[in-house]
Amino acid sequence: MSPLPVPRAEAVVDLAAIRHNVRRLAEHCGVAMMTVVKADGYGHGMVEVARAAREAGSAWLGVATIDEALALRAAGDTGRVLCWLTVPGEDHDAAITADVDVTAYSLAELAEVEAAVTRTGTPARLQLKIDTGLSRGGSTWDDWPALVEAARAGEVAGHWWVTGIWTHPASSDEPDDPANDSQEQVFRDALAVAEAAGLQPEVRHLANSAAAILRPSARFDLVRCGIASYGLDPAPGHTPDLGLVPAMTARATLAMVKDVAAGAGVSYGHTWVADRATTLGLVPVGYADGVPRHASNVASVGIAGRQRPVRGRVCMDQLVVDLDGDRPEPGTDVVLFGTGRDGAPTAQDWAEAAGTISYEIVTRFGGTRVTRTH
Ligand code: PLP
Repeated sequence: MSPLPVPRAEAVVDLAAIRHNVRRLAEHCGVAMMTVVKADGYGHGMVEVARAAREAGSAWLGVATIDEALALRAAGDTGRVLCWLTVPGEDHDAAITADVDVTAYSLAELAEVEAAVTRTGTPARLQLKIDTGLSRGGSTWDDWPALVEAARAGEVAGHWWVTGIWTHPASSDEPDDPANDSQEQVFRDALAVAEAAGLQPEVRHLANSAAAILRPSARFDLVRCGIASYGLDPAPGHTPDLGLVPAMTARATLAMVKDVAAGAGVSYGHTWVADRATTLGLVPVGYADGVPRHASNVASVGIAGRQRPVRGRVCMDQLVVDLDGDRPEPGTDVVLFGTGRDGAPTAQDWAEAAGTISYEIVTRFGGTRVTRTH
């Protein structure tokens, strides 16, 4: 709760937009949907987003860590949840007893799952991940046959069901990149090896948002959509208009308006110097609120339907915008980014200005000290 009548800064999350986006993606893809809600729902609030995604028919939720999966269960979610990132020695017991699908990349991880199954007396839901070219998590091609054999043996022994086999793309936001074809082919070959070993997974999956939208052959049984569920474009310049709606509006309350003379230097280091007499507005958000410092002098905010450029360096708690002689009242609403329908920038605009991706813009803003409302 903010002690202020209007919060200093706020991430306003439109859960109806999340529901709309999940439904649109499901219609477009025609396969089962996993909404990726890791990292506190990309800064939108994991539990709230999870509920909205379930209401919109998302059969699966995807998270990175076991802690995130358990937080979903603690909040009452009873549907299918997949997690995919553990470290050696991590306790799988709670995930298994909470009916969370866990992912194994290696024989060492299979051994950890087996130990947890023995301790808890509960068979696991196990998914196997192969690295088809991202060179991140997942079994190597060389280790894959042994992993598959061991997984099948454990299934026959009643330790687990192998519920899924999956991989992750490196370049799905660049649809012409040949890595998309080669990764899909390696995945198909890996599935053939698994089938030959007797595995019959319930879901085979490869696609993140960009692959789900742009590459029908990559959809398999399930698509794992993160960024597009939040209404942001996973592959700027390539994505068709699906009518997705950005779910987060980042707003602040204009703190102060002041006149400055020509020649006034603005913010640390005076990286912007007024070339004329102007009015400046103080926006009380900074990099401690997730506003990228790289946005200094390049991003804009929306005030009363007009974009106002950021002048000088973004500070820890505040930034300065050029009001160009106008005098909005302190207390006026400032939209840093939102739907793009009100003349204000979008998270994608901020990402382009700051040389990053929209994922980082929303995850950092929504995940910090700003108030978040749904
Ligand atoms: N699947 C996995 C394994 C991921 O790590 C992520 C996010 O990075 C996603 C799916 C969702 O990706 P996107 O947000 O691009 O849809």
